[in-house]
Amino acid sequence: MNLKELYQEIILEHGKNPRNLGKPNNFNKDAKGNNPLCGDNVHIYLKLNNLRKVEDISFEGSGCAISMASASIMTELMKGKSDNEVREIIEDFLGMIKENPELKSKILEEDDKTKLMCLSGVKQYPMRVKCATLSWHTLVSAIDNNGKEISTEN
Ligand code: ZN
Repeated sequence: MNLKELYQEIILEHGKNPRNLGKPNNFNKDAKGNNPLCGDNVHIYLKLNNLRKVEDISFEGSGCAISMASASIMTELMKGKSDNEVREIIEDFLGMIKENPELKSKILEEDDKTKLMCLSGVKQYPMRVKCATLSWHTLVSAIDNNGKEISTEN
């Protein structure tokens, strides 16, 4: 299995069995995101505790395998991070998806970097970039403008 096949395998697996799927009982920030070009929808829920750490994060949504896998991988690695760390990881991920050859953040474990690099294959496809980044922009909205709905098309 080469690297590209491994990456596809991980995306398909997360797409089929998304982690942290569902609406939690306890959350204090959330936002919805919508990618009308592909029909992807996500609703991100998170609980930031008094220390501004992500105590819990989950999502509801529907859409293509890339959008669901991206949300699944994102929620998995944000747990336990502070809001500043979350922002740094988001910036790093969006930079990598747009232009950077690799992830730079020192907060991320090698394992997490490998999972995120699975999504790097979308780089050449602007339509797919929107699928991969939808949940990430929605998370920014949840943290910064609690409740504000975002769309990839405005
Ligand atoms: Zn999509």
